[in-house]
Amino acid sequence: MTIATSTTDQIDSLIAAGALFVANHSGGKDSQVQLIRLLERVPASQIVVVHASLGAMEWPGAMELARDQAAAAGLPFIVASAAKTLLEMVERRFAGRPEVPSWPSASTRQCTSDLKRGPIQREVRKFAKANGFKVIVNCLGLRAQESPGRAKRKEFGLMGISNSVHTWYEWLPVHDLSATEVFGIIEQAGQQPHYAYALGNDRLSCVFCIMASKEDLRTGASHNPDLLQQYDALEKRTGYTMHMSRIPLVELAA
Ligand code: SF4
Repeated sequence: MTIATSTTDQIDSLIAAGALFVANHSGGKDSQVQLIRLLERVPASQIVVVHASLGAMEWPGAMELARDQAAAAGLPFIVASAAKTLLEMVERRFAGRPEVPSWPSASTRQCTSDLKRGPIQREVRKFAKANGFKVIVNCLGLRAQESPGRAKRKEFGLMGISNSVHTWYEWLPVHDLSATEVFGIIEQAGQQPHYAYALGNDRLSCVFCIMASKEDLRTGASHNPDLLQQYDALEKRTGYTMHMSRIPLVELAA
């Protein structure tokens, strides 16, 4: 396939070539806007929406938001689940190697790779094979303003997981947007963002993320007290803290 140079031209070439566009959808505002943007450009027959389920660890309603947005647009929707939950992953790591920190860290995010990326790629491969797609454009709702790391990410590029069966590209369709613009686009589309934002959350995925702000942890704790107890019990059992600050979750969320 001949690929043109600018991201816009490259995406247009891939649309024309019949590539499959995968909308990774966490249920968060950026995923929601990404899907709104994709639908403005890509035929529905070339889009699939995938949600990596984190089970009880994620905000209630996140999966449902992704599912309902996909259904409203008539798009196929896949839930990708790992064989273990985040807390099970921590327990197994502690059982196998109690001398090293049991929780994922910001630099080696096994939670993202094992619970999200891996299951999503497995499900997308299956879907692409069943539906005859050879070229996959993996779309992520990451924004440059979220962090210096995300600002450095290329808006478009070939992925290293490409092989003789599938060629994978990564595209960040909302990389250039601000949070204010994101909420504005959701409103203009006549949609509602997940309710956790109205409660005060800045970001949405796991209720208690290893990288979350204190405010998000506080909101998560006050609306999910049972889950907080489970995290607290596991922190105490392993002797390691969940959050990258190394401060116990109950203190951070107090
Ligand atoms: S939201 Fe945070 S804790 Fe949850 S999988 Fe992603 S990085 Fe890990």
